[in-house]
Amino acid sequence: MTVTDEPVAIDDEVLRRLPKVELHCHLEGSIRAATLVELAATHGIPLPTTDHDALYRYPDLAGFLVVYETACSALRTAADFARVTYEALEDAVLSSNVRYREMFFNPTLHPGTPYPVMLEGILDGIRAAERDHGITTRLIPSIYRQDPVASALELVATVAEHRDDHVVGIGMDGDELADPPERFVAVYRAAAAIGLHRSAHVAHDGPASMIETCLDDLGCERVDHGYHVVDDPSLVSRLRDAGTTFLCATPTPPLCGWSDVFDESPVRRMIEAGLRVTLNSDDPPMLHTDLGTEFVKVCNGWRLTPERTKQLVTDAIDAAWCDPTERAALARSITPELDRMLGLSPG
Ligand SMILES: [Zn+2]
Repeated sequence: MTVTDEPVAIDDEVLRRLPKVELHCHLEGSIRAATLVELAATHGIPLPTTDHDALYRYPDLAGFLVVYETACSALRTAADFARVTYEALEDAVLSSNVRYREMFFNPTLHPGTPYPVMLEGILDGIRAAERDHGITTRLIPSIYRQDPVASALELVATVAEHRDDHVVGIGMDGDELADPPERFVAVYRAAAAIGLHRSAHVAHDGPASMIETCLDDLGCERVDHGYHVVDDPSLVSRLRDAGTTFLCATPTPPLCGWSDVFDESPVRRMIEAGLRVTLNSDDPPMLHTDLGTEFVKVCNGWRLTPERTKQLVTDAIDAAWCDPTERAALARSITPELDRMLGLSPG
């Protein structure tokens, strides 16, 4: 049973405090507004406003992307990257009890900063957050799909040259309608050849067929977003049977083409169709949310049972790109807590 007719929902605070694993979150979309204002002032970058509340308000998707690109340009030094990484991870722990997180970053959107410099800073932030807050983190450099294929290939070569165990996979984001995934088959082959896991943002705006391209041609192991799967019942059946993991996030910038009515979210239809869905915050401060809030909205808003709520976390553990030993340790530490907090019997 996925949903319940029980009138009593799970306590909001229990949902916020459940231990969690998050697999889809962007470093550059996780910068506190106050920090972005400070970094922009330091580097002489003009902002549309320095008002912390107004900075992350957008009339439309284009406005969101302008602020996102500005946020990227405000990260210059290793210390900048270390600071925003640490703060993003601290926020995830304090707001939502995230124990393990995979974060995207877009190396090609920081043209003034060499990859080893940004990686050094991000790793410093990761280590400090693990020391202070116990959260472990892995990284996914993300291809910006508006980049030329040659620069995406160069990115994979750079990742290989500066290999670090924290960097576990490759992703892809940007405007999917303008640049469909098949452009990047050679890039994904190169990533596979150096042992990187693969995923891509797809079918958020584009058709369901893009999911098949990613799985079948790019060799993706997980699907980021993938909401238009609901338009294709045969694909829903195939991916439900295959146990394909979707990394979903209910908050979207305005004018993304999906209804503003939360109950009409495709994520709800995906859960009800029995697809393997995980919840994620994507760009938490920029979209005014955090993972705990997403659990409250989804689990109580859609009346998920405690068992289905638990599965949102355990499916994320199963799909994590850490090594099997660490994944098993995560499951051992988190699952009993889930059972206790959700009132479930062990097993
Ligand atoms: Zn995303």
